[in-house]
Amino acid sequence: MATSWAGISNELRREVGESNHKNWIEPLECIEIKGGVARFRAPSRFVGDWVKRNYHDQILTLIRNDGADVTRLDFVVKASPARPAKTESAPSEPVVATGPAGDDVLQGVVLDQKLTFDNFVVGKPNELAHAAARRVATGGPVTFNPLFLYGGVGLGKTHLMQAIAWELTEKRPDLQVLYLSAEKFMYRFVQALRDREIMDFKNIFRSVDVLMVDDVQFIAGKESTQEEFFHTFNALVDQNKQIVMSADRAPGEIKDLEARISSRMQCGLVVDLHPTNYELRLGILQRKAAHFAQSYGAVKISDGVFEFLAHRISNNVRVLEGALQRLFAFSSLIGQEVTMDMVQDCLSDILRSSERRVTVEEIQRKVAEHFNLRLSDMLGPKRTRTIARPRQIAMYLSKELTSRSLPEIGRRFGGRDHTTILHGVRKVEEMRSSDSQLNEDIELLRRLLES
Ligand code: ADP
Ligand code: MG
Repeated sequence: MATSWAGISNELRREVGESNHKNWIEPLECIEIKGGVARFRAPSRFVGDWVKRNYHDQILTLIRNDGADVTRLDFVVKASPARPAKTESAPSEPVVATGPAGDDVLQGVVLDQKLTFDNFVVGKPNELAHAAARRVATGGPVTFNPLFLYGGVGLGKTHLMQAIAWELTEKRPDLQVLYLSAEKFMYRFVQALRDREIMDFKNIFRSVDVLMVDDVQFIAGKESTQEEFFHTFNALVDQNKQIVMSADRAPGEIKDLEARISSRMQCGLVVDLHPTNYELRLGILQRKAAHFAQSYGAVKISDGVFEFLAHRISNNVRVLEGALQRLFAFSSLIGQEVTMDMVQDCLSDILRSSERRVTVEEIQRKVAEHFNLRLSDMLGPKRTRTIARPRQIAMYLSKELTSRSLPEIGRRFGGRDHTTILHGVRKVEEMRSSDSQLNEDIELLRRLLES
């Protein structure tokens, strides 16, 4: 059988063209011909369905011409790799493919097993995005289209998108879910243009039920890709198919993105992932520690280490995760508890580079905003209490949160003397012990500035 399938496959190459052949036929493996059914193994359900829909009759005819008595083709999907525990019985493999196996770039993204809802820690900064992602992941009626997730690097955009893809492949195996980066979208598009297969390209992207495109800021400024994306987008929205996108900033702020596209992107629900806060970072550390313990074995961690890391390491969860992993690896290697000393040693590079760089200017701006003042008043000479008090708070925070000296801070406060700054700082320190409102204001501001 193998030989004759090879022959048939070759014939097909002539009929469907080199590139289609490479994309759809080559990845198929003919397993058996029995009881009038020719059974093939496909790298993903998507490929199987696509071949069935588009090449069923051609393949059938060729097999029959070859002398086999076949009335029907059947496609099975390659066995799934191990999945997170609760998804044992996942019916199809979790690869969401734009194309076949064997061609890396055409291949849709293989979803990362870690990036599930189960592994996503929810906190104030991401709860809205999480809730929206959950909603889309039910695969129910489309309520907001598109869902647009945005936020800075390492805040969990890709994690949420892949979590949606996992959940959908599991709960709604009837839906064609396509997840890919905008970069891959472009690559695929350029390739289709080159190979004159733009119709195939359009068909593929318009036949999915859920399209997820990660990092769409990438297509900004790439004119024809933008254009094609826009058409795909509209076609899917018209068919009431769900679209999910992510970007590093809000649609309206993506430079060189055509206005009509960015306004379409804002038609659905736009939610942002806020910078992580201390509590969320702490929660993530605890969750990841449990996770790393599975691969490195249990590791003892001194009190205060998590708190220190959550406090000192910036927003980017990827960096936080890397730091923790390093500690686990090191500690299990030398068989010692993770102590604060080890943290300082092992992570000195990370700690140095993530030293928060709050500036005096930022502090002034935030404090002025908080108390509804003009920045010029904050820096100017007025001494009324409603201005002088916030000014002193800003001085205090500058002393606390930056490494500037008092004279340096003084210069940034409209050329004040360092003794004035010192007086302000002392005054606030004094009042903090008795004035709970002031305390709250300061804590709030500190959190805002530190996040
Ligand atoms: P982005 O796509 O926004 O740049 P990612 O989704 O790739 O960020 O996240 C970076 C890393 O941080 C990933 O390993 C991801 O699993 C992890 N991560 C981010 N946010 C969370 C979270 N809330 N809970 C658990 N892990 C998270
Ligand atoms: Mg990402």
